[in-house]
Amino acid sequence: MEIKAFEKKIYLSSPTMHGDEMLYMNKAYETNWMSTVGENINAVEGLMCDYTGTAHSVALSSGTAALHLAMKLAGVKRGDRVFCSDMTFAATVNPVVYEGGIPIFIDSERDTWNMDPVALEKAFELYPEVKVVVAVNLYGTPAKLDELCAVCEKHGAVLVEDAAESLGASYKGRQTGSFGTYNVISFNGNKIITGSSGGVLLSDDGAAIDSARKWSTQSREDAPWYQHTELGYNYRMSNVVAGVVRGQMPYIDKHIAQKKAIYERYREGLKDLPVTMNPYDGNLCEPNFWLSCLLIDEAAMCPQHRTDTGSTYTPEKGKSCPDMIIERLAKYNAEARPIWKPMHLQPFYSDCAFVTAKGEGRNAANVDTDIFTRGLCLPSDNKMTKDEQDMVIEIIRSCFRGY
Ligand SMILES: *Cc1c(COP(=O)(O)O)cnc(C)c1O
Repeated sequence: MEIKAFEKKIYLSSPTMHGDEMLYMNKAYETNWMSTVGENINAVEGLMCDYTGTAHSVALSSGTAALHLAMKLAGVKRGDRVFCSDMTFAATVNPVVYEGGIPIFIDSERDTWNMDPVALEKAFELYPEVKVVVAVNLYGTPAKLDELCAVCEKHGAVLVEDAAESLGASYKGRQTGSFGTYNVISFNGNKIITGSSGGVLLSDDGAAIDSARKWSTQSREDAPWYQHTELGYNYRMSNVVAGVVRGQMPYIDKHIAQKKAIYERYREGLKDLPVTMNPYDGNLCEPNFWLSCLLIDEAAMCPQHRTDTGSTYTPEKGKSCPDMIIERLAKYNAEARPIWKPMHLQPFYSDCAFVTAKGEGRNAANVDTDIFTRGLCLPSDNKMTKDEQDMVIEIIRSCFRGY
């Protein structure tokens, strides 16, 4: 196959619209509910409860806002330590700090690339006072949720499930976004479905969701004037944004099927290379396949040197590395990205503890640094055609052929 640059950029994951979105956005316009109140917002809340099987929900301006309100509901106070996924987007963790909490990062396991229940148990041995755990389902693959829930329960801690990337993924037949006491979904532009922005906080605790709804609309009391007994936020979802989400919801299963086909085509097309895909156990869970990722075998890694802001690598015949593949795909107008850089490696969080399955782990070998070093996210856009993906695969193959 002759390698040619893509005329139209192949994105990692971009919004996929269907037309229904315009209908509901227009309805907001025609009825003049151009506001953070309206029918679309109520509809989104109902749809999300039905889809995830969670009793109550509040639609918010972003997944980050939902995580922030989850921290308040979980009772995180200044100086409190909170166990957090380490290999994730910073938005999982930053809300801990908004409330003055201190994140402690937990290493991942290799079976799902999510928080390791063994490391979490270790962390409770080291910090038995901790009462809140924030765990992500990375790239749409459910974490070992039974094990994580059991460890949390054993230690009387509240689980906050960051399901921002995993809407539609299920674990033992149950939807993600329903395992935590508080659960977070995101409708950011690159997620499995989008509102252009937006998020939802879900819980079976109706009083908690009522509190979050009140905080999200500036904590107004029931009074003739603006009366406040609590600190407020402007975190409510817009009725226009909710219209987009409402229009996307009927297509979520289609998006997941497309993402799964992309994942399987990569697995097939790359199977004789010294690489593996982001793993999952099909007997336990069904991911939403939001992003397809690669992990390069250790023996097939050419030397790659990363600093805080850049990277260099030394090509070797038959070997490659993430930054070489990302660079080459970019050259042909396709977007790939490094794995989320672990939080324990972020300068902003350099003072925070990091716990692996073996104990305190800042200076020890760990899973997250290894996956970050050898892994990358591949172009996973729904709209990528089979021919385009074949070309992406050919470009990746060329990286291992020599230089
Ligand atoms: C996207 C994302 C968020 C934040 O969602 P926003 O809606 O962008 O605020 C949180 N956690 C993870 C893991 C995400 O990928």
